[in-house]
Amino acid sequence: MSEVKGRYFIQTFGCQMNVNDSERVAGLLQSKGLEAADSAAEADFVFLNTCAVREKASVKFRHSLGRLRRLKAERPDLRIGVGGCAAQLEGEKLLERARHVDVLVGTHTLHRVPELLQEAGTTGRVAVDLDRKADAFAIPGEVAAHGNPVRAYVTAMEGCNHVCSFCVVPRTRGPEVNRAPDAVVREVEGLVGRGFPEVMLLGQTVNAYRHGETDFAGLLARVDAVEGLRRLRFTTSHPEHVDERMAAALRDLPRVCPSLHLPFQSGSDRVLASMRRGYTRQQYLDTIGLLRDRVPGLSLSSDVIVGYPGETEREFEETLAVVETVGFDVLFSFTYSPRPGTAALRLSDDVPEDEKRRRLHVLNARQQEWQHRRNEALVGRVEEVLVETVDGGGRVSGRTPHFRIVHFDGADELVGTTVPVEITAAGPNALQGRLSQPIH
Ligand code: SAM
Repeated sequence: MSEVKGRYFIQTFGCQMNVNDSERVAGLLQSKGLEAADSAAEADFVFLNTCAVREKASVKFRHSLGRLRRLKAERPDLRIGVGGCAAQLEGEKLLERARHVDVLVGTHTLHRVPELLQEAGTTGRVAVDLDRKADAFAIPGEVAAHGNPVRAYVTAMEGCNHVCSFCVVPRTRGPEVNRAPDAVVREVEGLVGRGFPEVMLLGQTVNAYRHGETDFAGLLARVDAVEGLRRLRFTTSHPEHVDERMAAALRDLPRVCPSLHLPFQSGSDRVLASMRRGYTRQQYLDTIGLLRDRVPGLSLSSDVIVGYPGETEREFEETLAVVETVGFDVLFSFTYSPRPGTAALRLSDDVPEDEKRRRLHVLNARQQEWQHRRNEALVGRVEEVLVETVDGGGRVSGRTPHFRIVHFDGADELVGTTVPVEITAAGPNALQGRLSQPIH
């Protein structure tokens, strides 16, 4: 296959940023004439867009790469590409154990995938570009082949300037680079023009956004003003960059949804200091207090790590206490895993794996109990649901402004519309409902 042609399949690991990167690579490949395949088995080119945040992500990626080795043994014409965070982190060393890879790119060189695919086909050798200094926004957002017909991801900023001891992201994605507000607004206008009702702005610490005179609240105001946009969300926010202007934007801008993802990572001041998160437990709680005061009804989700080096039972209980005090809508909890090149690697990973798993289990059980109780309190209420997917069997599902999932009876033509739904039942992770009268 010396020319770029045929069918492609992309497997994505990790966060929304990676999903958005894959959407852009997919769009780029389509613009070169390739078509999407439903599986690796049906594809001429398979691209793995990797994640390096936790050990588990690396293990999953290795398994996929192993399966592709077998597939390529059966079909030597198959071309394989690897890109993204793990590729950037491991670099060409990755190729020593994976000689079946044809294309290797990093986080800033995804735009070169079609060109390198062609090069590999012509030369018969692996084509590599891991340049960290390349333009991370080289693939225009407009090119992206969005996977969700309702919520489109739009990258507002790349990289991260924080120095969290556990986190590999600054190494994989480099320092922050903010997109010009005009470019973000143009992309959103284009998406609305193509019928997307909702946009989610992305960045590792999206609320640290600044471009010239435009801060994050300013960017939200610019995007909120895009005619025809119905809902505006963003992720991930860092507690250090929450301020009055951001709280006011959440409260006052009509399309900005009342829902915020604000990782706290630990409830222990010792652990937070060691993590270099830049806030204490009380400062985090004060930030939540400010947000709840300014934005009544705001729903909150968070990330937390258990089993960080040296975490005692008491420190873990401090994390549990924050979870109980705040009452998060959703909690993403992880067991600590040491990552290459991070500051925490110097610390002894001394919490045994089964103790980490026990803490995770205790935390998840408490959180599930709370989510169930909180969701039950919503029964009887009417919520505005933006319908996203057809579940099958005459059922559809969508999200409330607070990002809660609701399933109810409905037909495919509801996808993309906002409808009033009365909540009739609640589980810990989702609500059930029925179409109701319009909300006035
Ligand atoms: N940029 C965001 C922030 O600073 O809060 C989130 C970045 S990360 C992609 C998503 C989550 O993975 C983090 O919030 C953290 O809870 C978790 N995580 C990151 N590194 C980890 C590690 N080494 N072990 C376990 N969990 C980790």
